[in-house]
Amino acid sequence: MEKAYPFDKIEPKWQKYWQKKKLFEVDIRTSENKFYCLMMFPYPSAALHVGHGRNYIIGDVIARYKKMKGFNVLTPMGWDAFGLPAENAAIKDNLHPKVSTLNNIKTMKRQLYSWGACYDWSREITSCFPDYYKWTQWIFLKLFEKGLAYKKKAFVNWCPSCNTVLANEQVIQGKCERCDTQVTQKDLEQWFFKITDYAERLLTDLDKLKHWPQRVKTMQTNWIGKSRGVNIHFPLENSNKIFTCFTTRVDTIFGATYMVLAAEHPEIPSLVKDMKNKDKILKFVEEVRNESKIKRAALDVEKKGIFTGRYVINPVNNKRIPLWIANYVLTEYGTGAVMAVPAHDQRDFEFARIYDLPIEVVIDDPEFPLDAEIMKQAYVKDGVMVNSGQFNGMSNREAMDEIANFMEEEAIGKRSVQYKLRDWLISRQRYWGAPIPIIYCDKCGIVGVPEKDLPVLLPEDIKFKPHGESPLKASKKFVNVKCPKCKSKARREIDTMDTFVDSSWYFLRYISSKLKNKAFEKKNIDRWLPVDQYIGGVEHAILHLLYSRFITKVFYDLNLIEFSEPFGNLFTQGMIIKNGAKMSKSKGNVVSPDDLIKQYGADTIRLYTLFIGPPEKDAEWSDRGVEGSYRFLGRVWRLVDKIQMSKLKIQNKSKIQISKLKRKMHQTIKKVTEDMEKGFHFNTAISSIMELVNEIYLFNRDRHYFSGKIVSVPILDEAINTVIILLSPFVPHITEELWEKLGNKPSILKEKWPAYDESLIEEEKITIPIQINGKLRSKIEASPAIDEEALKIKVQSDEKVKKWVEGKKISKWIIVPKKLVNIIVH
Ligand SMILES: [Zn+2]
Ligand SMILES: [Zn+2]
Repeated sequence: MEKAYPFDKIEPKWQKYWQKKKLFEVDIRTSENKFYCLMMFPYPSAALHVGHGRNYIIGDVIARYKKMKGFNVLTPMGWDAFGLPAENAAIKDNLHPKVSTLNNIKTMKRQLYSWGACYDWSREITSCFPDYYKWTQWIFLKLFEKGLAYKKKAFVNWCPSCNTVLANEQVIQGKCERCDTQVTQKDLEQWFFKITDYAERLLTDLDKLKHWPQRVKTMQTNWIGKSRGVNIHFPLENSNKIFTCFTTRVDTIFGATYMVLAAEHPEIPSLVKDMKNKDKILKFVEEVRNESKIKRAALDVEKKGIFTGRYVINPVNNKRIPLWIANYVLTEYGTGAVMAVPAHDQRDFEFARIYDLPIEVVIDDPEFPLDAEIMKQAYVKDGVMVNSGQFNGMSNREAMDEIANFMEEEAIGKRSVQYKLRDWLISRQRYWGAPIPIIYCDKCGIVGVPEKDLPVLLPEDIKFKPHGESPLKASKKFVNVKCPKCKSKARREIDTMDTFVDSSWYFLRYISSKLKNKAFEKKNIDRWLPVDQYIGGVEHAILHLLYSRFITKVFYDLNLIEFSEPFGNLFTQGMIIKNGAKMSKSKGNVVSPDDLIKQYGADTIRLYTLFIGPPEKDAEWSDRGVEGSYRFLGRVWRLVDKIQMSKLKIQNKSKIQISKLKRKMHQTIKKVTEDMEKGFHFNTAISSIMELVNEIYLFNRDRHYFSGKIVSVPILDEAINTVIILLSPFVPHITEELWEKLGNKPSILKEKWPAYDESLIEEEKITIPIQINGKLRSKIEASPAIDEEALKIKVQSDEKVKKWVEGKKISKWIIVPKKLVNIIVH
């Protein structure tokens, strides 16, 4: 195939030029007009495919556009380089994770370069390098000092395939986020970050994030899961123990006919130790614990339970109610003890029917009084209080407050707020991560590694064994240390940190990536952050974005920084799919950019990626679409090559033709600028530039007045220059080349983004008389360029015309373009 234009010569030329000229390096000491444009840094697990490309191409377009708008643009890049895939590959291929990671980084760097993406590489960071993870460890110690990092034994998510624990956020529908294996539960001692201390602020500060997509804010709101209610204290019979239940429906307290404990409730063993059927109960508990929590939390889970043999006392009416253990209650939310009100909760209702537990109506339907005997389902709507002592007759909404007051007066309950958010489990039983800087001493207990001893280096002479424990455990040199406090023999923590700790602060490190004695320089950080534009996939809506907000708030509280939200604007791009599915090696639908760039050039791939659809939506990759973009760039190339360079300038163009092209040009500048400013509608911006290109071709083809004399037509030059400048953020190589060809000095990045003149945008209007059966009945205003279909619609919506044709049939349209419309009706 003949090339539409010599992209293979142009692209390497300009890539080299941009790199040499360091066009995106900024002086961090001045933040005048600053614009921090950040793409989520990649995880170097394998080569990038065109789906990944969307993130970097969008980021590059925004950076280039902002630079042309006169901003001082900071656009760094780095590598989220720790993590499991590299370690799994190490076990499989016997290749050290560091080696495979560095190989992958090299490949990806080459790919980013070949896309024409420009970064300030002088700020590159790599999270698996000691000069970075030293500071990740320092952050751990900061949290440890503040009591925000702690160790506890807990039921945790365990991926049997990855051989490690997972944070709740990494369990997707009961499966491991990384490898899709069914997650099980294990009782283990683990390190947590106390993100729950920040639940309220993480929630309320979402309101400050005006330029975040609503769906991301909604996902975070739901994940934090705040609810208001009452903690009610139920004394255990024949004991001084108290079980506290959280409920959002305190109005139903008189209808509580049993209580349920989650299988994970820590009191269960002591509670049933004297029961005859203790073994049976504990066996049941074990079974439930091994079930998937997602299944257990589902509304339609098959409900199973067992009676403990014990009773608690309902504190409002002193009724004895039996204490059960059931699969449908989890410790995740509330206290792991739930008061069951079968008349008014569907799950409790189903359970009570199975185990023949009493159902007592306490909120009645005002229209159809309820009968517990024949109820088919729980009544969950509002109603009137019954069987509820002094609260009878009240509306249940009113009773909620009254009962809560009563309980607080009687000290049997207390208003409370609950969050679904749990603490962030950060320890991993794997090698390829930042070691947790903790030492265990028999005398001193848990001791943080002193800052001067950081980093705690990952030993590199390590053996990887399949399905084994962390190789760190076997490294005596690593494990055996002296206690920093008392100098006696001690042991090092062998768990490493979740990689989401590495990525929770990387955006700060870019500002001073080479700093040796600090994680960051406060003065510069406060100048350059929050990030002005953050770009990444919506799959990070909870994990990474929530953790980064949390760490930022902790730093703010520690007076390390002056801002409490890290990302001012967030853009989440949609996925690029192929054959209806997300690109993945296992599905065999991965499109590599490398071959496509060889065949069509990087600009074509960039243009197609941006043109494929609204950038926030998922889009299907099509090879034919790539060719369309390629053809368009060929057309742009010829615009300069043939029209401009051939000097076949046209004189004596009519005033109408000139003003038409001028108008189109200003309309296009306006459209592209607005598409960039309001939500990054690259696809519609590009299509308006395509229209302008068409208009230029039409202008050129129309040679009726050509006299053979070569005369410059300023509007033609202007329109061609405008096309090239407007296109340059999207397709930087070809536009740099054309810009130079036209006799301009590179780089086009130094050009000002064009302004538009509102007064030139207004469409020219002509008046068209409208006849009905040959008699003048109305007049309409329309553009002289209006096509027939649009003209007909416009005429038919004219009030006067409507009156004349109402109830009649149009048999014929007679249209004289720009002159007259005659409608024949009968
Ligand atoms: Zn896994
Ligand atoms: Zn000690």
